[in-house]
Amino acid sequence: GYAAAVHGRPPRDALPELRTRYADFVRWQRKLPAAPEFGPLLDWWTATLSPLPPLLDLPVDRARPAGPTFRAGEVRFDWDGAALAELAAAATTTPETVLLTGFLALLGRYTGAERMGVAAPVTVRPAPEFEDVVGMFGNLVVLPADLSERPTFAELAGRVAAEWRAALARRELPFETLVRELDVDRDPSRVPWCDAMFDVRDTGKLELPGAQATPRPVPNPAARADLMLTVERVDPTVTGSLSYRTSLFDAASAERILDQLHTLLAAALRHPELPVDELEIEPPDRIRAAVRAADRITDGPPVEAPVPELVHERARSNPDTPALSWAGAEISYAELERWAARVTAALPEVAGAPVAVRMGTGPGQVATLLGVLDAGGQLVCLGRGDAGERGKAVLADTRPVCLVLEGDPAEDKLARWYAEELGGKVVSLEDLAPDAAPAPVRRELADLAYITHTSGTTGQPKGIPQTHGTLAQFVTWFGAEFGVGPGARMAQWAAPGYDAALGEIFTALVAGATLCPVPDRLRPNPDKLIDWLAAERITVFQTVPSYAKEILRVIGERGTAGLVLEHVLLAGEALPGELANGLRAALPGIRLVNLYGPTESILATYHEITDTVHGTAPIGRSIPGRQVLVVDENDRPCPPGVTGAIVIRSPYVTPGYLGDAAADRSGFTPLQGHPELGSDGGPCYRTGDHGLLRWDGALEFRGRGDFQIKFNGVRVELTDIEATLGAHESVADCAVVASRDRQGLVARVMAYVVPARGPSGEPLGAADTWRAVLRQRFGAAMLPVSFTTVLGLPRNIGGKVDRRALPEPAPAA
Ligand code: AMP
Ligand code: MG
Repeated sequence: GYAAAVHGRPPRDALPELRTRYADFVRWQRKLPAAPEFGPLLDWWTATLSPLPPLLDLPVDRARPAGPTFRAGEVRFDWDGAALAELAAAATTTPETVLLTGFLALLGRYTGAERMGVAAPVTVRPAPEFEDVVGMFGNLVVLPADLSERPTFAELAGRVAAEWRAALARRELPFETLVRELDVDRDPSRVPWCDAMFDVRDTGKLELPGAQATPRPVPNPAARADLMLTVERVDPTVTGSLSYRTSLFDAASAERILDQLHTLLAAALRHPELPVDELEIEPPDRIRAAVRAADRITDGPPVEAPVPELVHERARSNPDTPALSWAGAEISYAELERWAARVTAALPEVAGAPVAVRMGTGPGQVATLLGVLDAGGQLVCLGRGDAGERGKAVLADTRPVCLVLEGDPAEDKLARWYAEELGGKVVSLEDLAPDAAPAPVRRELADLAYITHTSGTTGQPKGIPQTHGTLAQFVTWFGAEFGVGPGARMAQWAAPGYDAALGEIFTALVAGATLCPVPDRLRPNPDKLIDWLAAERITVFQTVPSYAKEILRVIGERGTAGLVLEHVLLAGEALPGELANGLRAALPGIRLVNLYGPTESILATYHEITDTVHGTAPIGRSIPGRQVLVVDENDRPCPPGVTGAIVIRSPYVTPGYLGDAAADRSGFTPLQGHPELGSDGGPCYRTGDHGLLRWDGALEFRGRGDFQIKFNGVRVELTDIEATLGAHESVADCAVVASRDRQGLVARVMAYVVPARGPSGEPLGAADTWRAVLRQRFGAAMLPVSFTTVLGLPRNIGGKVDRRALPEPAPAA
């Protein structure tokens, strides 16, 4: 980054001599691999850098573009030198080492890495005979930093100084040789260990006989690292710069990073006793202000009445507006209301109790849902298809007072089981009285409206209830935010049984829009769904990213003729940037939104995609009525750039699980006393998701720490599948893992099974057996699993299955 401006005239004959001697140096460097000192040098580096330190996952504004990028930006600093000198004295090291230590500690906070490699440009003059030669004596040295075991600042500084000394003593090994010899698995857009770099500038004296040389900065140097901290001098003030790759960072973010470094150094001076991972990197009042600024608990439309009442209001004010569109016909709000009343009249006393609705999508189901809510019942939706043992488990868990279905109860296995084993009452819609006008049961906002079942960790489905207040608040907000009102045509794509279906249905009906249920037989078929979207003139379409990917594929083949989409809403799993970009390019007029959240709060955040997305789309900011926090293991809010756990505080968090899972309150333990975070927020839910607050204030999803995955948008606990398989007599041991596609969506689920063996060693089961076990358990909701038979499962020292050590599955499995 620097050149020397030379004033004066060195003796002419000095220059050729300098040139030949520099050539000697280059020759020396090239021959190094054959030199006797090379072996020990390489051995030292190999030992020091194994295992190889990981790539640094820095908190960038934008994900890394595919190819290399070189544009650099720079923010400068000029800090109090006395404070740094004091810190250096306290840690018995140099101010430069203090800065490097601070930089490494900060990188550790961003990446969570306990070991990292950071490169530094150095000068190499291998022998005294090259002392006065002018030329390019640069090399890169990797500083192998060890941040493990929670050192204090002084301890870390001591380590860094020693590591740095040791590395500098072996700086002759050319960087390229090191990379080649270590056989680093290269990402072609990154230079190994150069994600972050550190440079103590030796702006030393260039002495040329007969001339005066002054260092001059080179304007707009190319970026050598994603982030590079350069120290120019430490006395009387500490000056230098943080340069950054502009393809990844904005200037404002680089400023914040420098601020955080400064804050960390000040904290290290004040609290020498703290481990570096506890030193503050943002002033607490700034974090609190950010939390409060993002806090939307008190925002949003007030909840006026339970959802069925809101729908009836619509029916009173717009009786002839089409409420539903189905099979080429329309059903008005007045007709829907009458149909629902006939369902209510057919029900036994259900107020305050669960009612199972075993029906496929369509107007009959919608009328039934409204009818059950009018009767005061709590909805438990089961699709129409094979529900497997899981269907029974849901019924046994919730004990509904009755089960409503469409056809002949005698033909439905689950309904027969329910009647025989649980003594339940089955109501068929075939027996509805022609007309009825029962008075709806008045519901309070605190009463439960529905119970959704998700995959539990133990092989048992987990019942998640929500109140009328929560459902009403959510659908009122959703409709207002996404253009749902009279004239809008909203698809109900989500299948019965998912809370998203109830969201879609009641958003449309509360807003006075027209709900268009996707026929169950079309849903698996994106080709037909496109035609349906056009024919139904759908304006608002919510689906999951993995399905949107199929839709985009079909659009690529057939174009968008006939589509009048205005809002495309994606929820339920991470949204790959490539997909978001593809959808915006294919459907330029739409508003595209990424929604995030667990069933426990329906949803929690949303982010409108207005620009090209690199990597995964952000999940954005909280939905009104929710405070969404990223916290560390002590429940303190994380500063921007630091990954933590996503916690939702909201009065709209479920009151808790029902049935067998009721005792599991671990996800609902309140945050450890943080009254300063503003509104009390009522209950809280720890999602198990990892998140990060970006520099611009939007949230990013950073995966999970457990074995919950999303497959085609459906929440699945891998341990649920393991428990089911493991309980079968033919399985001695098993592990279930998910593999992801290039975009990060789960592409398939693989089970590694150690079969149980009979007396003569024959396996008691194979893939067919196990597939049948899962099919019987999960019914039509079973996801495709491929099986690999193994002799044993790899385990780590702690006895846990080491999933990464599992073999590659057979391609045909
Ligand atoms: P569910 O309760 O079935 O709605 O699943 C909730 C879980 O799905 C969350 O805890 C996340 O792990 C995941 N999820 C939902 N929406 C998103 C999203 N937009 N981006 C990333 N993950 C998501
Ligand atoms: Mg959901």
